[in-house]
Amino acid sequence: VKTSNSRLAEITSLFERAEKLLVVGHIAPDGDSLGSTMALARLLAQSGKEAHVACLDRIPARYEFLLRYYPVITHVDELPLAADCIVILDCGDLARTGLPAHYVAERQVINIDHHVSNRGTWGLSWVDDAYSATGQQIMSLVDHAAWQVDSGTATCLYASLTADTGFFRHTNTTPELFRDAARLLEWGADARLVTEQALERRSLGELCLLRHALTTLSLHGAEKVAMIEVSYEVAERCGIQADEVEDMVDFARAVPEVEVAILLKGMSPQVTKVSLRAKGRVDVSKVAETFGGGGHRAAAGATLPYGLAVARQEVLQRVMQVLKSD
Ligand code: 5GP
Ligand code: MN
Repeated sequence: VKTSNSRLAEITSLFERAEKLLVVGHIAPDGDSLGSTMALARLLAQSGKEAHVACLDRIPARYEFLLRYYPVITHVDELPLAADCIVILDCGDLARTGLPAHYVAERQVINIDHHVSNRGTWGLSWVDDAYSATGQQIMSLVDHAAWQVDSGTATCLYASLTADTGFFRHTNTTPELFRDAARLLEWGADARLVTEQALERRSLGELCLLRHALTTLSLHGAEKVAMIEVSYEVAERCGIQADEVEDMVDFARAVPEVEVAILLKGMSPQVTKVSLRAKGRVDVSKVAETFGGGGHRAAAGATLPYGLAVARQEVLQRVMQVLKSD
C-alpha cells in the first residue's frame, strides 16, 4: 500500500499542533479498534502529548489483556473536556464512536480508517481500504514520523493486524501484512499472549452459547445461504451477551456450498444484531448498508430494531435479492 507523504505529513502536523488528544475507535470494539487506538495513544504520549483513549462500550473479555498497555475511558462523563483534537480510528460511521455529537462538533477531527463504507466526510479523513487493518495505517504513520515502537505498542498493533485478518486467514492477508507483522515481532510484540487471549480463549458461557447456536444452523437459497441464530433468551441462560462469541458466524461460512453466512444475535427482545460474511462475488456490505450498518465486501454487520423473528425475515429477503441480482 502506498500513501502519499503529503497526506501522512498533514496528519502528523495536526498531531504536532494538538496538545491534548482523544483517540477513539468504535462501539462493539474489536482487536483492530482497541489495538490501534492504544498504539496511537502510546506513540502520541511518547512524543510528549497528553493522549486519552476512549471506548464507550463493553470491552470483550478476550481484549481485556490490552488494558495493561493503556488506560481506557469507558464513560461519556469521563471524556476530557480539554481535548483539542479527536482521532477516530477504524470507524466507518461517526455515530459508532459513541461520542456525543456536540463533543465532536467542538473539536478538530481526524478520521483514519480502512472501511469501504466510510464516506470520509468528517474532519481530515484518510480512508483507504487497501489497508488490511487500521493498525497497519498506524504503522505507515510510524514510518513517516520515524517514531520508536516499543514492545507494548508492538503488541497492541499485533492485536490489530491479527484481528482484522482473522489471524492471517482472510483475503486481506497480503505479503505486506506479513511484512508488517514480522516487523512487530522484531519490535518485541508478545504474539503468544495475543493468540492465547484474543483467539483461543473460550469462557464457559461462550461454549454454552456455541452449543445452542449450532443447533439452529439452517440452509436457504439452494444451500447458498447458511444462517445461525442466538436468541436473547439463550444468551441470557448462558450468562453472556449474544454477540460475545466473535467467530460464531464462521461456522455458517464453513459449509462448502455456502456463499453468504448470516448470524443473528438477539441483544434484547427488540434489538437484533446481524453479522454477514461472503465468499466469492457477493458484496455483503451493501446488504448491511440497507439496514443502516456497513463494513467490508466479505464481512459486514448492522443492528436492527426488530426481534429475532422479524430480523430473520428481513435479512434473508435482502440477502436473497443480492444473490439473485449478481
Ligand atoms: P461483525 O459482524 O464482526 O460485527 O462486523 C463485521 C464488519 O462489519 C466489521 O468490519 C464491522 O466494523 C462492520 N460492522 C458491523 N456492524 C456494523 C454497524 O452497525 N455499522 C457499520 N457501519 N459497520 C458495522
Ligand atoms: Mn478494522
